[in-house]
Amino acid sequence: MSKVLIVTGGSRGIGAAVCRLAARDGWDVAVNYAGNKAAAEAVAADVRAAGRRASVIQGDMSKEADVIALFEKAEAELGPVTGLAANAGVTGKITKVADMSVAAMQDVVGLNVIGLMIQNREAVRRMSTKLGGKGGVIVNTSSIAARLGAPNEFTHYAASKGAVDSWTRGIAREVAGEGVRVCAVAPGMIDTDIHATAGAPDRAARLGKTVPIGRAGSAEEVAETIVWLLSDKAGYTGGAILEVSGGR
Ligand code: NAP
Repeated sequence: MSKVLIVTGGSRGIGAAVCRLAARDGWDVAVNYAGNKAAAEAVAADVRAAGRRASVIQGDMSKEADVIALFEKAEAELGPVTGLAANAGVTGKITKVADMSVAAMQDVVGLNVIGLMIQNREAVRRMSTKLGGKGGVIVNTSSIAARLGAPNEFTHYAASKGAVDSWTRGIAREVAGEGVRVCAVAPGMIDTDIHATAGAPDRAARLGKTVPIGRAGSAEEVAETIVWLLSDKAGYTGGAILEVSGGR
């Protein structure tokens, strides 16, 4: 089977690491980004340096039209899509519940839940053997916040990842008989830009010390799990939500 992978939020952090490691593992990669074109182009250059093909495709993954356009462009440039890393996600700013605006709730749920569902739907429409596809693999990026709840920081984000877990369990069972394997990873405290964007640039270094392993994880440590789940080596792993959290 041809190996064509879409990575949403592929320009930075965990998604960028997935693009690079997937290229190492023989995938051609569509690198999606929201606003940071230069970062996406740098990731694509690394994919090409690894001998694989790369497409750089802008698109807001909370918007249905952009998700559909992403799949269409990726297929036009790289061929039938056989892998999806649904990874684009935001925490929103650190906010107590009493201060949380509806707009903040909608932003987080709009991308992390609705956007991810649309990405998964578009992948199933193309991959399902019942619908004429040749099968494929979907790996969603959840978070251990789903079980920790993220009190005092981003409870809306934690709730959105709880929805990702439920969705992953359901869709995995629904399409397993149609040649589509679906799993998720649930990272813990990972050292990426996401903490600075949330308003706490020191968060990974500060809270990393409280993790049983004694440090924050790297984007590559999460990406290794994602590319393993994407691979045939994980062929009997379906509906799993694998924690990559340093034992937290
Ligand atoms: P990050 O470093 O902040 O990178 C975010 C990525 O998502 C960027 O590539 C960004 O694109 C893209 N993005 C943001 N909004 C988007 C949108 N509306 N449409 C398309 N792309 C969008 O984040 P990260 O830490 O790698 O997080 C990746 C995933 O892991 C998220 O789902 C997050 O919830 C999850 N996660 C992270 C941690 C952690 O500690 N870092 C822990 C658990 C789970 P631009 O570069 O164009 O802005």
